[in-house]
Amino acid sequence: MFEKLRGAFSSLAKAVAEKKLSEKDLDDSLYNFQLALMESDVAQNVVESVTGDLKKQLLGMSVERSKDVEEVVKEKLRGEVLSIFSQVGDVDVLARVKESKAKGEPFKILFLGINGTGKTTTVAKFANYMKKSGFSVVIAAGDTHRAGAIEQVTEHANRISAKVVAQRYGADPAAVARDGVLYAKAHHVDVVLIDSAGRMQTNQNLMEEMSKIVRVVTPDLKIFIGDSLAGNDAVSQAELFSKYTGFDGAILTKVDADSKGGAALSITFTTKRPILFLGVGQSYDDLKRFDAKAFADSLVN
Ligand code: GDP
Repeated sequence: MFEKLRGAFSSLAKAVAEKKLSEKDLDDSLYNFQLALMESDVAQNVVESVTGDLKKQLLGMSVERSKDVEEVVKEKLRGEVLSIFSQVGDVDVLARVKESKAKGEPFKILFLGINGTGKTTTVAKFANYMKKSGFSVVIAAGDTHRAGAIEQVTEHANRISAKVVAQRYGADPAAVARDGVLYAKAHHVDVVLIDSAGRMQTNQNLMEEMSKIVRVVTPDLKIFIGDSLAGNDAVSQAELFSKYTGFDGAILTKVDADSKGGAALSITFTTKRPILFLGVGQSYDDLKRFDAKAFADSLVN
């Protein structure tokens, strides 16, 4: 995972360590670092911010002889990465679900994202995670457009023994979402997971459809699903949903196959919303809580 981004970080640390920190040498090293970040799918605004900050820190740095320069540079890089994640906070999903349950209210989560990003699989993984954490779930099959979407989500749900609420194709997704909530209230189900459609990111109708679901069911949490392999497309999709419906956090999928690693940084920096979980494989247990510290450590070590 993330070999490319890791490579960019370690090359910079090595390059700086081998030279005196003159401005010219530093600029050369940072230029190469910028290129490597771009190749790792780090968005341009993040590249500029990170390298600008680093330059200031490294230029003013006086390294004690006994200290390993490479280690000091790595520490600065680690700090840069952590500062991007620490600015956006976090959402403790389990605590929020517990609070809702204590009030006797179902906790409603709407999943947003473009087709093919792994949304349906992620809804199933999330249902599995909720069940394993001791909560009952119902899935609302809110993608009533894409052929096969209702069968797909139902098949996933059957495999993990989760209930699905669905209507026919062409039905109003907001009505399906509301049915899911009504079912949860009637049967004292703890969590409602609302799958949604994901036609073309530029489709105005899709954004209106998502806004309608939000108005009708007022989700407690809106989660954007981004494909870590989609590069800058994932960032522009995140920006679009952020603008039209807003979201509270993101799940990055297919991280197990991602050799670059820029998506987490870019989406967080651009939308100012935290990454909550990572999809790390195709089975239902392959959903990991995102840990910013572990992510930063893995890049510099
Ligand atoms: P949707 O169109 O967004 O609902 O996408 P799907 O849920 O159908 O997923 C598209 C493909 O991505 C499927 O083949 C999934 O098995 C695969 N997929 C989803 N999440 C992951 C993941 O975390 N890792 C890997 N390797 N594949 C994933």
